Amino acid sequence: MTGRGLRIVLLGAPGAGKGTQARRLSEAFDVPDISTGDIFRNAVTAGTPMGAAAKRFMDRGELVPDDVTIGIVRERLAQSDAAAGFVMDGFPRTAHQATALDAMLAGMDQTLDAVVEIAVPREILIERLTQRRSCTSCQASYHLMSAPPKVADVCDRCGGTLVHRTDDSDKTIVHRLAVHDAQTAPLVSYYRGAGLLHTVDGTQPIDTAYEAIVAAAASQGGGRAA
Ligand code: AMP
Repeated sequence: MTGRGLRIVLLGAPGAGKGTQARRLSEAFDVPDISTGDIFRNAVTAGTPMGAAAKRFMDRGELVPDDVTIGIVRERLAQSDAAAGFVMDGFPRTAHQATALDAMLAGMDQTLDAVVEIAVPREILIERLTQRRSCTSCQASYHLMSAPPKVADVCDRCGGTLVHRTDDSDKTIVHRLAVHDAQTAPLVSYYRGAGLLHTVDGTQPIDTAYEAIVAAAASQGGGRAA
């Protein structure tokens, strides 16, 4: 990859499409997709102490405490593949995480190219999460009606098993959305104030939303494709 890579944060409520877009950006720009949710789920599957601690919060739809989450991102950003950039999917989620990310990047003499909020109305988020099926191996996600897998319960990408995440249950969805409104939505004004915020309509077709995200990053000088 040439140029200065891509350093982008995707904001948006659960079900907005951050993971889908992050995977695409990661492949197109050859930068890691840093999904704190995926890191926690992998730790749960691996049975690590951190995974066991995180699971208690995840199952309730609560955020994992900032010190744990920030520590994980700090370690991940220090890995060599993040030197050319990254797509942050699901981090930061609190004001404290956002200022910690600023400090980490400043310490690496880096800045963000853009922060893109993927906006989707509440009723569509709930419908998407209810219909979402996620791969337990590669974390790809499907929608039972609008983007079903070719074979029921099997991931098209890697052949892994698809599940309805326990935190995508009706009761937990409502709580996760409330947590998002209280703790994560304020980051929109934080990044607007920093001159980094772009908002993309997440109800558009995936390809159209993707192009809008790339255009947002390019408008700030980032996003040279690999
Ligand atoms: P996600 O896959 O991004 O929806 O994340 C699933 C769950 O992982 C969240 O509901 C939280 O419990 C936890 N999680 C993911 N990212 C964070 C974060 N940045 N801060 C705290 N908890 C997080």
